[in-house]
Formats: sequence, structure tokens, C-alpha cells
Amino acid sequence: MRQVYLDYSATTPVKDEVLQEMIPYFTENYGNPSSLYSGGLNSKAAIDKARKQLADLINADPSEIFFTGSGTEADNWALEGMADAMRKKGKGNHIITTKIEHHAILHTCEYLAAHGFEVTYLGVDSDGRVNPKDLEDAITDKTILISIMLVNNEVGTVQDIREMVGIAKRYKIPFHTDGVQALGNVPIDVKALGVDFLSMSAHKIYGPKGMGALYIRKGMRPTNFIHGGAQEMGRRAGTENLPGIVGFGKAAEIAKRDFDKHVKHSSEVRDYLLERIKDEIPDVEINGTMKQRHPGNLNVTFDFIEGESLLILLDMKGISVSTGSACSSKSLKPSHVLDAMGVPWEKIHGTVRMTVGDFTSKEDVDYVVDELKNIVIRLREISPINEEKGWN
Ligand SMILES: *Cc1c(COP(=O)(O)O)cnc(C)c1O
Repeated sequence: MRQVYLDYSATTPVKDEVLQEMIPYFTENYGNPSSLYSGGLNSKAAIDKARKQLADLINADPSEIFFTGSGTEADNWALEGMADAMRKKGKGNHIITTKIEHHAILHTCEYLAAHGFEVTYLGVDSDGRVNPKDLEDAITDKTILISIMLVNNEVGTVQDIREMVGIAKRYKIPFHTDGVQALGNVPIDVKALGVDFLSMSAHKIYGPKGMGALYIRKGMRPTNFIHGGAQEMGRRAGTENLPGIVGFGKAAEIAKRDFDKHVKHSSEVRDYLLERIKDEIPDVEINGTMKQRHPGNLNVTFDFIEGESLLILLDMKGISVSTGSACSSKSLKPSHVLDAMGVPWEKIHGTVRMTVGDFTSKEDVDYVVDELKNIVIRLREISPINEEKGWN
């Protein structure tokens, strides 16, 4: 049976070029980067190289890149580290974020709220966009940090971060952006964007899992998050994940080198998938704007059916899709992102996210749509919602 992976926003396969670069750092080049003999120095040099490769992808200085154990850790560090640093300075206790953030941000905000911070969650319009005016209105003299994601993981919306950073700068408030979905998919220039912090993850750009990084603008001093040795310029302790870092660096180098090719391929395949679905399956809606969007993201509501049933039946045909964060926590709580966009509850339950990438072909799409058509017809035939509407 054909296998078609349509969940590149959940994770990506490690590219062979990346894997080949990593392998020697499991075997012959195993020196501890903190050791002073040549084996250690070689490892240290490999980390420096990766730091530069990642810095080059986002136009940062290598000294502003700090490797972490995941994108989630980078998000936690930026928020908790700044919340703590600002509290120590006697600044305020107010944080602004949005309703559509990844749980790495939302749950960290909940944690901070339980520890004396106040959090404002900005809403979004039906396209999934934050209105910069809402940000300005939410700022108070107690605001110490703003965290707004660059690209959303469920609907792929790209926010106008540059404009919002402009507002933050007028009030001298530090700005963090979760750049995990943006990295490699939209151009990122931290200098032009003006952000103070940007979170990244390797496994979303064809690198290894369990490997992230935080861009920290020069001069910003969030409290350290992991305590111990002097690794990462004394700011993130723990013996480095040497093969992981090397892999992240290589993945970043490839993302920069092949950026245009990647974006063109993803968007062409995604648009082909979109056209075939729209042409051949009735009663579907596309969630999120098609204009400022992740090149590989499609988020589709199939009326009158359950996303989970669709997911399971597609899986039986070798096709992997996601229902976003709907039901991901095993509760029946619908996707917080679609909810914030005003998508009605019953439509959220009929929604799946399909994300394509470098290894998705148009033949894959043909196979998916052929199967999808049949499955949707079958599910609609047995749908109780269908009967209520007299659809049968
Ligand atoms: C995947 C993802 C994360 C978490 O990154 P991990 O490396 O998997 O911890 C954070 N934010 C967004 C937007 C993501 O898509």
C-alpha cells in the first residue's frame, strides 16, 4: 500500500544529508565539547559551525543563538526567563499573548498566571490574524513581555510581527515570537523583524527531534532556565546534544540554500491538493487566509463528518493527517485555534489539517484525493448530522 505522509507540521523526516553529517558525532567524534584536548575542541568547533549555520538562516549573530532541548523549551525559557528577570527588576507582571499560540506558550502562560502574572490573550479574526490595534490597546504600564507566534501550526496564518514589534518598541516592551513553524517556510530576518526572542525547532525543518534553539537579541538577559555547567555561554547548562546540534546546523544550512525550491514545491503541491478537494468534494471549507500562509498548510472542514473518523479511515489507506489540536488532549475540547477564529463547534469537529513538504508529490495528492472522496461519501452516508438535516 502507498504511504502518504501529510503531517509535516507535526514533524518531518530527517534528510539524508543531515543524517550523514550527524553520524560521525555518535561514533568517532564523541569528545565532550567542554574538554580541552583535541577531541573536545573538535566537538566545540562543530557546535560553533552549527551555531553559525542557524544564525545565518535568520540573520542573527552566532552569539545570539542558544541551543535548547526542543522548541518547547525555547518557548518556556523565553517566557519564564523574562517574567522572572522583569519581576526582579521591579517592573510589572503583565504578559500579552494570543489565543492561537501553541500549547508550549499557552500552558507556560497558565503556569505564570498561577505564579502571580496576569496574562491577556488577544483574539484573532476569521482569517486567524491578530489585529495590531488590539495589541496596542492591551498594553498597560505593567506589561513586561509580548509573545505572538510568527506562523500558526494549525491554520498556517502568518502574523504581521514587524508591525506589532513596532508598537512594542514604542512602549519599550520585549517581544518574543514562536518561530517554530515559520523557520524554513517564510523568510526570517530577526534584524528586520526587530524581535528580541525567537524560538526554533530542528525536527520541523528535516532535522532531529529533541533539538531546539532560542534566539536572544544581544543585551537581553532572561533568567537562566536550566542550571549547571557553563555550556551555551553560561546560559543553558548541560552537556550539549552534539549530533543533534550538528544536525540542526546542517538542516538550517539546507533550509537557507533550498529555500526558494522548498517554498515553490510545497505551495504547488498544497495548491494542487486544495484545487482537487474543492473541485471534487462538495461541502468543504478552507480555514484561514490563503494569502499570508505557511506554504505547506491546508486546513479543511468536511461538513457533516467527524475529523477523527476521517483520520482513522485515511490511516487505513496509509495516509497520515492530523486533526490539529482538536481532541489531542483526549478530551473533546475542540481546537482552540479554530475556536478563536469563530469556526462553529460542529465544523471544528469535521476539520483535518494536511501539511505537505519536500517529499510530497502530486502523485501522492492524486492518491489521497481519490481515497478521500470515497471516505467522505461513506462517512456522510452514516452521519447522524446528515439525517437531521434530511441530507439522505
Ligand atoms: C512543534 C511546535 C512547537 C514545539 O516544538 P518541539 O521542538 O516539538 O518542542 C512549538 N511551537 C510551534 C508553533 C510548533 O509547531
